[in-house]
Amino acid sequence: MNLQSLDNTWIKQFPQPLYIAGPCSAESENQMLETAARLKKSSNQIPVFRAGIWKPRTKPNGFEGVGVIGLSWLKKVKEEFGFLTATEVANAHHVEAALKADVDILWIGARSTVNPFTIQEIAESLQGSEKIILVKNPVNPDLALWVGALERLVGQGIHHLGVIHRGFSSYQKSQYRNNPNWQLALDFKQQFPNIPILVDPSHICGNRENLQDIAQIALNVGYHGVMIESHCDPDKAWSDAKQQINPETLGTLLANLKLRKSNILGFEEEMERHRTLISDLDFQLIEILAQRMKISEKIGRLKQENNVMIFQPERWKFIQEYAQEKAQETGMTSNFIEKIFKSIHEESIEIQNQIMKD
Ligand code: PEP
Ligand code: MN
Repeated sequence: MNLQSLDNTWIKQFPQPLYIAGPCSAESENQMLETAARLKKSSNQIPVFRAGIWKPRTKPNGFEGVGVIGLSWLKKVKEEFGFLTATEVANAHHVEAALKADVDILWIGARSTVNPFTIQEIAESLQGSEKIILVKNPVNPDLALWVGALERLVGQGIHHLGVIHRGFSSYQKSQYRNNPNWQLALDFKQQFPNIPILVDPSHICGNRENLQDIAQIALNVGYHGVMIESHCDPDKAWSDAKQQINPETLGTLLANLKLRKSNILGFEEEMERHRTLISDLDFQLIEILAQRMKISEKIGRLKQENNVMIFQPERWKFIQEYAQEKAQETGMTSNFIEKIFKSIHEESIEIQNQIMKD
């Protein structure tokens, strides 16, 4: 068995798209049962309830999950409300406990996918399992690492596999907690059309505002499902409070998603795909321009403090020559690049003039 020969029959048992919802973390039995009850009421489209039992946190001494007791709460959620259940596993002990508690879907978090030793350990402890395993993208945009993780799982006879796009971290702050990389995710989809791909708008956004848009983009480009965080009292959540929404808000969000008509895959899907990629690049262009202007601002202050002229002809000449050289290398017309850089330079000068005036 290899990745190309995997079949995606496991996802066919669910209504499409597949929605998975529930709190970032299991906190208490009450929180789990109340969230589940309200999810059940607010939407009839959610077959799977998620909750993190072991939480990988960036810094030590925070809440790191309730541990195995949370598995018994997941079991209750299943018994009382009929949800299938999902949790994150990050080592062999987690796998053993989750299998013993009969959790239906296990996911591997972004911080585990980056580590081949961790993945190998998880894969071996799952050997031959029929469970559904969802692999989140690694924290860094490395398609080979993501695929490598799947290969390790397939190597241990695990064949109910899917992936989750949860975005990629970057040093520069942006509007997203983890920047989506639609190009990479679509490359994955193109290479492995047989492996279901879900989106996790919660960890991409890090806030509540853009969840709807991100989920919609994913469906527009043919994703198979959405995993999203929902908490009965989001503001008081012990982890990821800013991005969680209550079950009623989630019900509205799901009801507002426009589903792609599967019979018009051709022209419209192709267009949507290209437009998504263009918007993604436009976003990156704007972010990079904003970073550039911030540096210009700093230079403006230095010039002011040292009484140096704003316009430096030598420097401008260097920038233009460099841009022209790159234009040639990348096959863009010299005229186009000249216009763009003139405009960027003018704006920089304007920003620095403003600083001098202040
Ligand atoms: C999560 O789903 O709660 C989680 C920790 O996600 P990620 O691995 O994407 O950070
Ligand atoms: Mn979370």
